Amino acid sequence: VRRNPGEAEFHQAVKEVIDTLVPALRAHPEYTEHKIIERICEPERQIIFRVPWQDDRGEVQINRGFRVGFNSALGPYKGGLRFHPSVYLGIVKFLGFEQTFKNAVTGMPIGGAKGGADFDPKGRSDNEVMRFCQSFMTELHRHIGELTDVPAGDIGVGAREIGYLFGQYKRLTNRYESGVITGKSPAWGGALVRREATGYGAVYFLEEMLKARHDGIEGKTCVVSGSGNVAIYAIEKLQELGAKVVACSDSGGAIHDPRGIDLATVKRLKEVERRRIRDYADEHREARYVAGGKVWDIPCQVALPCATENELDEQAARTLIANGCIAVVEGANMPVTPEGVRLFQEAGTAYGPGKAANAGGVATSALEMQQNASRDAWTFEYTDRRLREIMGKIHRDCYETAEEFGHPRNYVIGANIVGFRRIAEAMLAFGVV
Ligand code: NDP
Repeated sequence: VRRNPGEAEFHQAVKEVIDTLVPALRAHPEYTEHKIIERICEPERQIIFRVPWQDDRGEVQINRGFRVGFNSALGPYKGGLRFHPSVYLGIVKFLGFEQTFKNAVTGMPIGGAKGGADFDPKGRSDNEVMRFCQSFMTELHRHIGELTDVPAGDIGVGAREIGYLFGQYKRLTNRYESGVITGKSPAWGGALVRREATGYGAVYFLEEMLKARHDGIEGKTCVVSGSGNVAIYAIEKLQELGAKVVACSDSGGAIHDPRGIDLATVKRLKEVERRRIRDYADEHREARYVAGGKVWDIPCQVALPCATENELDEQAARTLIANGCIAVVEGANMPVTPEGVRLFQEAGTAYGPGKAANAGGVATSALEMQQNASRDAWTFEYTDRRLREIMGKIHRDCYETAEEFGHPRNYVIGANIVGFRRIAEAMLAFGVV
């Protein structure tokens, strides 16, 4: 805390991980001797930069940009960019730290990073977003590259922003370096399924968790928070597998549609028209919108937090448990508070932490890098099959590692130790670097 003052989310993320690594550290004294923990908690590099741009009225605006390369033991830095007014160093470091473990859990050759800016794309015109992205990349391009650091999207950074960012990178470097950024449109080097991957992957993870309990998704009543990229495709896959999703939300409030969320409406409102989720109720009379409301109050058997960090607290966890929720899977990063996690674990609720459950997004980004490197483009079906296999393997690795260390079905311990061991072994091999 003294070394990183005022970075509450980073402290929370580090504490959560370290607390679960004790069994692995006992089994491997060499990790302690070589100060692997101390090294892993210190980012390899942190870049903070000014992002000046002009809005549509000609007024100069200044934002702050970040890129934290956390760990490159397993491959080039890899992780998304977040554009949201709440972004500051503590958020970027928490996300970069989580990303490092998550990427290791996928078993793919990628290190961990995160970045972004305190820019709010909401209410900004396409031209303003373009000018911002161009200014952001004007600095960032010096620090990234397909063998160095490969950004992607996150909150506030979708296909439109990725296009503007890549366009500027290409212009500045005089290189069509497809593998420098992932989440690209399939029309120019992006992988099919990348858009769907985090949401689909979280549902595949849920499927495996339920299977391990001799249960399944079909017929389950679910709630999903958020209505962004992760939420939309989690809902799509849940519905495809026969679940009924009765609620979703945005930062303004929650929609409850007892007949089941009509995903076509959500996609049009959010992906095409960039409107608010409250407008859903204008088109579906049986649906109810609660301003400032959360989806956790609505009775369900499965809950998928897919919006943002710390959105599901102790009180919400109590409500979910009381209403008979049997499984919680994190589509978002660190959406459940530590108290909430503890309650789920005590209640025997199946709990899938984001580091494992939402790793499908970055895993598919790694598949995008593979396709770019070989100048190939795979079909949707093939890529989706690869994603499903990867999620199955992640589940198996976490499940077996939790058992190995005496904590059966504890996916938090499983995921953290799986990721940590892979990073630690590479760092040991490299010596003091
Ligand atoms: P989007 O920007 O597409 O969507 C975010 C959604 O969450 C929106 O509905 C947004 O509502 C809501 N939201 C954002 N901030 C808040 C807040 N403070 N309170 C309540 N609701 C909020 O982002 P993604 O779907 O890409 O990301 C969602 C989460 O998933 C994040 O935690 C991200 O880090 C994580 N993640 C994303 C991956 C990806 O591939 N996209 C991969 C792995 C993890 P509103 O529009 O009103 O702001």
